[in-house]
Amino acid sequence: SLRKNGDDQISPGELSPGILDLHSFDTELLPDMSFPAPYDKPTLYRAARGRSFDDSEPYLPTNKQINKARVLPESNFLKSLSVDKEKACSVAKIKVVVRKRPLNKKEIAKKEEDIITIEPSSNFLTVHETKLKVDLTEYVEKHEFVFDAVLNEEVSNDEVYHETVEPIVPAIFQRTKATCFAYGQTGSGKTYTMQPLPLKASQDILRLMHHTYRNQGFQLFMSFFEIYGGKLFDLLNDRRKLFMREDGKQQVCIVGLQEYKVSNVETIREFIEKGNATRSTGTTGANEESSRSHAILQLVIKRSADGSESKPPRVVGKLSFIDLAGSERGADTTDNDKQTRMEGAEINKSLLALKECIRALDNDQGHIPFRGSKLTEVLRDSFVGDSRTVMISCISPSSGSCEHTLNTLRYADRVKSLSKGNNSKK
Ligand code: ADP
Ligand code: MG
Repeated sequence: SLRKNGDDQISPGELSPGILDLHSFDTELLPDMSFPAPYDKPTLYRAARGRSFDDSEPYLPTNKQINKARVLPESNFLKSLSVDKEKACSVAKIKVVVRKRPLNKKEIAKKEEDIITIEPSSNFLTVHETKLKVDLTEYVEKHEFVFDAVLNEEVSNDEVYHETVEPIVPAIFQRTKATCFAYGQTGSGKTYTMQPLPLKASQDILRLMHHTYRNQGFQLFMSFFEIYGGKLFDLLNDRRKLFMREDGKQQVCIVGLQEYKVSNVETIREFIEKGNATRSTGTTGANEESSRSHAILQLVIKRSADGSESKPPRVVGKLSFIDLAGSERGADTTDNDKQTRMEGAEINKSLLALKECIRALDNDQGHIPFRGSKLTEVLRDSFVGDSRTVMISCISPSSGSCEHTLNTLRYADRVKSLSKGNNSKK
């Protein structure tokens, strides 16, 4: 029941040996996946299956599409993957990256100025804050910052991925737990930055599972939930309320959380969209409410103990993506509304606890203060053992956001302050 796609279909043997990188196809047309030669029909069939939701209706690439694809010599391709693997294990434990978004139409209409300068291809950033003297004349105070990377408004989401998550993906197969946070005030670009990352990461994970770790029994799972007002809700199961429990071995367990086995990027894309649509919307409008919740998307790699299907697979590594609540919400502690005040206090507590946990990690402190908040308790197992943390601080360039921007940069600076000169350490 193969669906014929327009013109001719692939005939095996017509292609030179090597790795056919379907990634270079139009990704809207085909799942992102590469696979080794020979390109026999069953292999293509399996590779292309991700295209349709219904397995009975697979998608086959045409010769034209195949010819457009890059063909890489197999050995080089695999070599580059194993180099990545080594590199991944030497990646800094903590990385702090700042991303500046462009001025938006509203800010331009209000004649707000861009007060952030970034020296080209450097990791320096300057905030130009306009202040008033006692005699009411204006002067500009400069605040300079240095981070592991500083990304200006021209940097694409692909480049953000390359700079942040991509280098740590191979380490997930080596028992590493990695976490990527987006921090910043509401409207600074956290969701814009965060949304594409799990999709790109899962593409790479699936690719590794089909090459370097082929037939080794690895499986990919995903879950997506949010923390709102200190409570947990499953974003892939109609916001069902979840409870956190610790087992005898002090392992965190989120009771009732739906974990889906995923084997193609199309399904993952759908889950991400579904989860985002399910985020707290309340009555006051989507952005307003979702800015008070932390959204946590986890990709988990598991493997059966002896490669057999009989035993339940065990967790090997984990990659978590956290779209944090708007940092300004932590200051909602004087609001007239009690509910808002309490939520603000909870957010404040979680962002402070998060900072303390990352600092403790970086300091190789034996004691990690998880208990400070629900967020850090939930992330507990990502902070112990071999872990990697990437903090992406998002900032708005506008003069109107100066105070929030300085707060965000100072928070990022505090997270990072101890990691200077520490970067070569595992
Ligand atoms: P947050 O999640 O921090 O509240 P969003 O990610 O929703 O902020 O971003 C606010 C708006 O700015 C959105 O309309 C988004 O598309 C836009 N935006 C954010 N970052 C960028 C960027 N780097 N380039 C272009 N548009 C951006
Ligand atoms: Mg958002």
